[in-house]
Amino acid sequence: AKHAGGNRYELADPEADARAITRHGLTTALPVALERGEFFIEYQPLVHLEDGSVRGAEALVRWLHPQHGVIGPDRFIPLAEHTGLIVPLGRWVLEESVRQAYTWQARHEHAGPLRVNVNLSPCQLTHPGLVSDTVEILERTGLAPGALCLEVTESALIGADEDLLKPLRRLAEMGVDIALDDFGTGYSNLANLRRLPVSVLKLDRAFTQGMQHYPVDPVDLKIVEGIVSLAHSLDLAVTVEGVETGAQADQLRELGCDTAQGWYYARPGPPDRLHELALADVP
Ligand code: C2E
Ligand code: CA
Ligand code: CA
Ligand code: CA
Repeated sequence: AKHAGGNRYELADPEADARAITRHGLTTALPVALERGEFFIEYQPLVHLEDGSVRGAEALVRWLHPQHGVIGPDRFIPLAEHTGLIVPLGRWVLEESVRQAYTWQARHEHAGPLRVNVNLSPCQLTHPGLVSDTVEILERTGLAPGALCLEVTESALIGADEDLLKPLRRLAEMGVDIALDDFGTGYSNLANLRRLPVSVLKLDRAFTQGMQHYPVDPVDLKIVEGIVSLAHSLDLAVTVEGVETGAQADQLRELGCDTAQGWYYARPGPPDRLHELALADVP
């Protein structure tokens, strides 16, 4: 039995213990995994809502664990953030994705440039090497800064001071797009948006999920409509995630959203799959 505070006692949950061991096991295995090259990236298409063309993809990291098989980022990114391994891991993801995007550009010239979105964790934001690493990777691979979009969660930027924003501002000045990820979950001050060096709002999946059941709550529609019109008045593009049905896509297009991502279009997949999807929509 474990002491659970006060005069209450709880039986130890054997499953929780197994999970804890696994957590610990995963944490200690992470640095080795990076050295051994056990991480890989899947790419999920970003689709222009108006004409259905593939404009790029979000890079999503996975871990092919020798015993446990494929492990999703929700299970190991928090551990990597806790131990600081997220910095070298994030740098690896950035380099790999930028290299991949360069390959798409070369093979896809006639269809317009394909862009790549890469997630940044808050630890990477405060790491002093962020700007120099990014510049170095772009120069080494030859990818145009405008083909890269860095996704930062809204919660990471809530209450951000100028010191935290400075590296993002530098990158934005170079032409790198900054997207505010999971937007709408963080209760940030909308007026605050003007202060941030962002050019894209990524509406959280929660909004898209709210449009799964008909009739859609008119208040939900009004909220999304309001966010889109505010974003556009600030010159921000709006991307929606978690689009699972054609009806959702229609609704979000009508509401003026610019770009969509979700299972309705494609699940995350290997880099060649994105290339095929991008070519398939060229007339
Ligand atoms: P996110 O940035 O919000 O990424 C979107 C997540 O939604 C992905 O989960 C994606 O597979 C999933 N998704 C896409 N379309 C749909 C859909 O139509 N329906 C539903 N239900 N889900 C959909 P995934 O790949 O498991 O990634 C989870 C989170 O892990 C990401 O959330 C992101 O926060 C984090 N992550 C992934 N890769 C990286 C990375 O390289 N660096 C960092 N720092 N975080 C990462
Ligand atoms: Ca993201
Ligand atoms: Ca997101
Ligand atoms: Ca998310």
